[in-house]
Amino acid sequence: MCRHLAWLGEPRSLASLMLSPPHALLTQSYRPRRQQHGVVNADGWGVGFYPPEHPAPVRWRSARPLWNDQSFASLAPVLTSRCAIGAVRSATVGMPIEETAVAPFTDGHWLLSHNGRIDRAALPPDLAAESTCDSALLAAHVFATGPDRIGETVAALARLDPQARLNLLATDGRRILATTWGDTLFYLVEGDGIVVASEPYDDDPRWVEVPDRRILTVTLQGVKSTALTPR
Ligand code: GLN
Repeated sequence: MCRHLAWLGEPRSLASLMLSPPHALLTQSYRPRRQQHGVVNADGWGVGFYPPEHPAPVRWRSARPLWNDQSFASLAPVLTSRCAIGAVRSATVGMPIEETAVAPFTDGHWLLSHNGRIDRAALPPDLAAESTCDSALLAAHVFATGPDRIGETVAALARLDPQARLNLLATDGRRILATTWGDTLFYLVEGDGIVVASEPYDDDPRWVEVPDRRILTVTLQGVKSTALTPR
């Protein structure tokens, strides 16, 4: 449903990651190429990144379409980071349209984005989340169980809700963990870093498609892909 992207490497501007490439999140917000669920991603956008010399990630989110945000377009070329997660949202039916429902979510250390849906009844009750949106609750659950166990958590939730789609992106600023469970994911190794995205932002032939039911562990050393098995 939504589309998301993560970067790890040398500092890049948010514009170069999210706005400038021909099929960046900006274009994906109104004309995604590989989206299987939903047509446009107009229910909000968000980005989180790790500024140097700052103890926690910072976020900028909005419930408006990315293509409408002139202030972000103005500032994005000068906002740079070694690690960022960006997302554009197509709200699942019944979920609230509000800024706090838009990825990335954070526990003050990790950033997390969810592309998909999950039955909220499959999640533990009483999660402390900033929105009643399924993705916000899922993020709170992943933060509570430990993002390092994200693969096990996805497999366990898929058993509780076989209809769940659980493509997650998580980062602590030093590595990216990414799962595929029901939707597309690609990565591109560049000279200055690695980008992981729901769909390629350009037609570079080096984009690698990740098979379904995998977890990627991305560090500056490279990409490791491991199968996820239902639990
Ligand atoms: N279920 C989430 C929401 O409603 C994510 C939707 C998506 O992946 N498009 O925001």
